[in-house]
Amino acid sequence: MNLRTEVAVVGSGAGGSVVASRLAANGAGVVVLERGPWLRERELGDTAPAQLAQLYRDGGAQTSHETEMTVLQGCCVGGSTVLTNATCARMPEAVRQQFAGFGFDLAEERLDAAYRRIEEVLDLAPPTPRTEPPRTPLADALRSLGHESEVLRQARRRCPGCAACNAGCRFGRKLDATLTWLPLAQRHDARVMPDVAVRRILHRRGHVRALVCHDLARRAEFLVEAERFVLAGGAVNTPELLLRSGIHRRRAGRRTSFNASVTVLGEFAAPRPDAHDDDPLLQVAAPGFVVEQLRYPPSTPGSTPSAGFPGHVVALSVLVPTAPTGEVSLGRGHRVLPRVFDHAEIRFVLANAERQAFGDGLTLAASALFAAGAAQVHLPLVSLPIARSPRDLDDLPLRLRDQRDLVRLGSCHPQGGAAAGGDVERDVVAPDFRVHGFDNLFVVDASVFPVGVRVHPMLSVMALADLAAESVSAVAARSGLRTPPRHGSSC
Ligand SMILES: Cc1cc2nc3c(=O)[nH]c(=O)nc-3n(C[C@H](O)[C@H](O)[C@H](O)COP(=O)(O)OP(=O)(O)OC[C@H]3O[C@@H](n4cnc5c(N)ncnc54)[C@H](O)[C@@H]3O)c2cc1C
Repeated sequence: MNLRTEVAVVGSGAGGSVVASRLAANGAGVVVLERGPWLRERELGDTAPAQLAQLYRDGGAQTSHETEMTVLQGCCVGGSTVLTNATCARMPEAVRQQFAGFGFDLAEERLDAAYRRIEEVLDLAPPTPRTEPPRTPLADALRSLGHESEVLRQARRRCPGCAACNAGCRFGRKLDATLTWLPLAQRHDARVMPDVAVRRILHRRGHVRALVCHDLARRAEFLVEAERFVLAGGAVNTPELLLRSGIHRRRAGRRTSFNASVTVLGEFAAPRPDAHDDDPLLQVAAPGFVVEQLRYPPSTPGSTPSAGFPGHVVALSVLVPTAPTGEVSLGRGHRVLPRVFDHAEIRFVLANAERQAFGDGLTLAASALFAAGAAQVHLPLVSLPIARSPRDLDDLPLRLRDQRDLVRLGSCHPQGGAAAGGDVERDVVAPDFRVHGFDNLFVVDASVFPVGVRVHPMLSVMALADLAAESVSAVAARSGLRTPPRHGSSC
């Protein structure tokens, strides 16, 4: 059973859901193809490993080569948006300028308008300059160390603070794509198809004809033919699909960056006054790293340290934005036995400066927890799993000689791999989101970032998807492509 539609979107996460809803609202016939299952609220929020495995790519076990860093991505309807902590941040102006340096020039006013349109749906007030710094024991401890903290912006309503955000919100309070963009798209007759993995792109002379899809429930292959195709499988997955389809083999998968992170736990003798469910979460941004408060116990698979009773523990994450030095490939085995080794490999090594940033970030996080009264601090270090006093932190940076000295290093924020820019020899995607050399193939997800955004990426992926919808619509008008009937028909 093949399918025809006007626009086929691969992936239903931050990029795919926004572009699908915008295109459907503009009157296009849209089909969204999603590899993962569609889980309803009652099936979410369970942090048992078997439950988490249903939501994450590779069951939450995707790691960089030689298993040195866990790379977490959603694999369900709504994509990674279902698994986020709902933290929202705009890209810093310096990053916007870096993008422009690659020829991916997102004009300030246009980008600002796109952020506002997204924030309206996510029920977020636009960012305001900080007026009054928060007054909590943790904020006071950070201030005593010379760091002013800010409250994280989060896209959620009346959160009960169960700390299971990374297993999806069973209360329906987190405004992920299944509660926002996908219903908007469906209201305009877009069709969302779960359990459908797109395996290959059929193309000739810069024009895509169809996608080879696998219906995972029925174990059947079928084709989706369309006028325009939008790849929104996320960093790692979109480059993987391009590589498997023989598109830009030398460039796709290169220039992958991460916000790499580890978790630090402060254990207190008595319950903490600032560990209440509805308290705002704080962050401190320093050169090279960010320290950010998490709800405890964090529910991310593979990186879930635990240290006693929830009320007695404060969890902080140290997040280091990396340079775009990572690489996604199909691996050496693929060249010999493509059917067996048909899975992306991620290669990434922390640079010296990034390791040092972890040293500085861990020192600040642990010092702040001690200053707030922690009896001991659990560190993600092979050689110092528990610090019992601030003196133990003196030689902390020296304990980080290698990436393997860090325990449970992970990233929920892979970016790049199909970098956008104006150079047809260097970049995969053109500034209008079209794959270089193609007339009807677009990439609209975190893989287009030429460098990492250095903050939580979801809001920026969505803002770019909002802008991309204009480009995807415009191409059809320019090229005068045939418009098939609005509802994708089977043939
Ligand atoms: C645990 C966790 C916590 C996070 N917390 C935050 C946070 O608080 N704030 C924030 O800003 N960001 C957060 N992020 C990151 C954020 O969710 C992502 O940056 C963002 O969703 C990326 O959007 P995307 O469209 O590129 O990919 P995704 O949202 O990951 O969507 C890609 C979708 O495409 C599907 N797909 C991939 N390949 C195929 C294929 N071949 N065929 C069919 N379907 C396919 C995938 O299954 C997936 O559903 C978090 C991520 C995780 C995993």
